[in-house]
Amino acid sequence: MAKFHPELDLLTEHAAGNLPLAQAACVSVHMNYCDQCKRTSGQLQNLGAALFDNLHGEPVGDALLNSVLARLDDAPPLSYASASEWAAGRTPAILQRLMSGDLTDLVWKKITSTLRISYLKTGDPNFEFALYHIKAGGRIPEHTHRGSEMTLVLEGGFSDADGSYHQGDFLLRQPSDVHAPTAVQSEDCICLAVLDAPLKFTGWKYRWMNPFLQLNTG
Ligand SMILES: [Zn+2]
Repeated sequence: MAKFHPELDLLTEHAAGNLPLAQAACVSVHMNYCDQCKRTSGQLQNLGAALFDNLHGEPVGDALLNSVLARLDDAPPLSYASASEWAAGRTPAILQRLMSGDLTDLVWKKITSTLRISYLKTGDPNFEFALYHIKAGGRIPEHTHRGSEMTLVLEGGFSDADGSYHQGDFLLRQPSDVHAPTAVQSEDCICLAVLDAPLKFTGWKYRWMNPFLQLNTG
């Protein structure tokens, strides 16, 4: 059972369908491992629906109505499924594969002797959505982030200065967090990582790697 979970505000945004696709996908995969968050999410969705039902109509003037209608015309079309659509059983194929543990046929990019990365396409150009495969005992070089980093452990486990994480555990790192995760000694670790900006390695030895990591297949 997962020990590390998304914060309630993140679950709330997820239930409301407000998260960007790549981040919503990561939270959804966590719920595949976590009944507790799945239950909370269901309650939040029910709460949202109840609040919506209780909204009473207010008469609006023509000017306000026209300005709202004009804004609707300008809104971009929704290009991806919302969290509620996933809950209704329309899970994107990419998530079905992750959830069923079917990680075969992936294209891996070798970064170091112990780390390889497979970039997955979500259709969301603002986020990098990738699988990290760290060999047993292998280490990801120390790095900071230019944006946030969501990590979800799919197989094996890893640890950093703050704790150790196993299957289903969810972590959200902020740009200021510096960490150097190390895979458990007993088995390889596969994580899903969602970044809203590429990783930036801080150790001088790994500076050269940054351009490689910014190669995005999306
Ligand atoms: Zn959870």
